[in-house]
Amino acid sequence: MSENQPILRVENIRKTFGDQLVLDDVSLTVNRGEVKILIGPSGSGKSTLLQCLNFLNTPDQGRIWLEGREFKAAGRHDLCAFRQQVGMIFQDFNLFDHLNARENVRIALIKVKGLTKAQANHRAMEELARVGLADKADLYPAQLSGGQKQRVSMARALAMDPKVLLLDEPTSALDPELIGEVLAVIRFLASAGMTMIMATHQIAFSATMAHEFLFMEKGRIVERGSPKHLLAADATSRTKDFCAKIN
Ligand code: ADP
Ligand code: MG
Repeated sequence: MSENQPILRVENIRKTFGDQLVLDDVSLTVNRGEVKILIGPSGSGKSTLLQCLNFLNTPDQGRIWLEGREFKAAGRHDLCAFRQQVGMIFQDFNLFDHLNARENVRIALIKVKGLTKAQANHRAMEELARVGLADKADLYPAQLSGGQKQRVSMARALAMDPKVLLLDEPTSALDPELIGEVLAVIRFLASAGMTMIMATHQIAFSATMAHEFLFMEKGRIVERGSPKHLLAADATSRTKDFCAKIN
């Protein structure tokens, strides 16, 4: 496997719901350590695209390669292996309410990675420490703030050693004062070289670390480029118009 080949390559993804075309010929390439930001109006297809990238939704058409190997789901086992490598962070955390923070992080380590309980506990604690929550390991989701819940969900994804992390508006469900702690973890991951694709409305934050902005509209990527280029004072871009409206 070459260090230079893209981690993820997606070609001509198309997805319909009923007679609605939700993703129309979407292609993108993500290299190791890159951060790509998906922006665009509500309903433009950002979540559906992220879900297609880890097969929570099955594209109607299109091809996906992970580290140069085309993924063709033949069964549950393949899907599970693929999803370990392409982690997902959801807007609403998706934690198990009946499990505490450590158990939320360790469950897939035991059930999917086959670690012993002791090994899984150890790894879960490492990941919770990485997101600054080692002291909250015994608390249940109901006892955690939104920002803490999102950090647990990030620890859970990171425990699987993903090659790519997909984040779908990870701070949208949070009160304003809790957004910063989640963004700090994302910034740390970016600086540590994690490859990420994130849908977000946090434009100023994203502009400081994104390699590329992908602006979506009606199921298509209609503009792409570096934030510096797209948001420059003298730029005329769809992205800049959109960002001016939401900020
Ligand atoms: P975004 O994340 O950019 O807001 P989405 O990907 O959630 O956009 O949605 C794109 C379009 O697909 C919307 O019109 C939405 O209503 C539709 N859609 C998303 N998921 C489903 C679904 N499971 N069934 C039917 N329509 C859906
Ligand atoms: Mg969405």
